[in-house]
Amino acid sequence: PPPSEDAVAKALHDVFGFSGFRGVQDQVVDRVLHGRSTLAVMPTGAGKSLTYQLPAVLLEGTCVVVSPLIALMHDQLRSARANGIRAATLTSADADRGQTMDAFRAGHLDLLYIAPERASQPYFRDLLQSARVGLFAIDEAHCVSEWGHDFRPDYRLLRPLLDAFPQVPRLALTATADHHTRADILAQLGIPEEGLIVAGFDRPNIRYTIRPRENVGRQIKAVVDENPGPGIVYAPTRARVEQLAETLASATGRRVLPYHAGLDPEVRARNQAAFVASEDMVMVATVAFGMGIDKPDVRFVAHAGIPKSIEAYYQETGRAGRDGDPSVAVMFWGADDFARARQRLSEIEPGRQQSERQRLDALAGLVETAGCRRAVLLRHFGEQPAETCGNCDNCLNPVGVVDVTDLARKLLSA
Ligand code: ADP
Ligand code: MG
Repeated sequence: PPPSEDAVAKALHDVFGFSGFRGVQDQVVDRVLHGRSTLAVMPTGAGKSLTYQLPAVLLEGTCVVVSPLIALMHDQLRSARANGIRAATLTSADADRGQTMDAFRAGHLDLLYIAPERASQPYFRDLLQSARVGLFAIDEAHCVSEWGHDFRPDYRLLRPLLDAFPQVPRLALTATADHHTRADILAQLGIPEEGLIVAGFDRPNIRYTIRPRENVGRQIKAVVDENPGPGIVYAPTRARVEQLAETLASATGRRVLPYHAGLDPEVRARNQAAFVASEDMVMVATVAFGMGIDKPDVRFVAHAGIPKSIEAYYQETGRAGRDGDPSVAVMFWGADDFARARQRLSEIEPGRQQSERQRLDALAGLVETAGCRRAVLLRHFGEQPAETCGNCDNCLNPVGVVDVTDLARKLLSA
């Protein structure tokens, strides 16, 4: 029988230190604990990990987690172990594989993280057969779909393995909102349609602001000055990252570090670790920074230029305020950003031009709207939001009222 509600609440509190579930977490956990295969679509930061880690603690047998990147696995491993969960990874990078397999067979593991390519190795199926598996969790499940933005052929190898354990429930997890991809994940992983749980995409604690770019160094300095907590500044190129990091370091007096793919891997890792540990640092980065980084208290995300798409904007700004506290997302855009992006359109393969143009048009719609930013974002993800959110620049300062409000503020503070 599945664990009682009390046992679930107790584990949530004692193991993870949380006072309650967020959003659809309870629905997902409840299905999983009842042995029902599930696809959970939850935005970045919504807390997908908990939906398999909690069952992993409560269910008999080990939860085998498929994850696409070794770096992501190790982050997860660290945080699981910090909560006292018995977790291990089984990758080519692990020297202690023999020990891990012994612990797995002996039933001493709550969580076992593997890369998808393990799934096709015959010895691995034998290993699973000689142990007790309580749950399969497939993280970043959109990787199984060619519709997704990150198709990985290795994910296609999972199905035969899953099918060899028909009594073990499957929990697929993704932040991808797209309809085709969801349907494809269900089909590819053999999860029934009724197993789909989609969380709302709204992040009400994030205040969205989108402004034309004037002097971007000065504009971003103002954002940094107004927000003393940790923040990320996204810049379009490595050179701009270096430049902005320098400007901000001298202009704000804050600790500012750069992050981009051109840096030494060691420097990158060091800068990332410093950021995660910091309560006031600013990371100036290209979009290479952010994936899989678990830092709940990021207070602002600033864009020095336009992101690639609304999806990218949502994902990048979504790194702010995972703890639910008020946070800001500020984008500074220039007409030249769009001109350059359109220029690049003509350079990509003809087959993809139309969809890329649509993505760019959708982004322009977000930038140019005089209405609620959040409403545009949520409609893009298929939701039917309210007309106004009260927590974006356009709702707080409706067009035409801007000057008056500013004037009133000046008069009041004079
Ligand atoms: P995702 O994988 O969906 O992007 P994570 O699993 O990394 O999200 O969780 C994001 C953050 O939310 C983490 O810092 C996690 O500790 C926190 N979190 C998850 N569930 C809860 C909860 N029920 N209450 C409070 N914080 C939570
Ligand atoms: Mg995750």
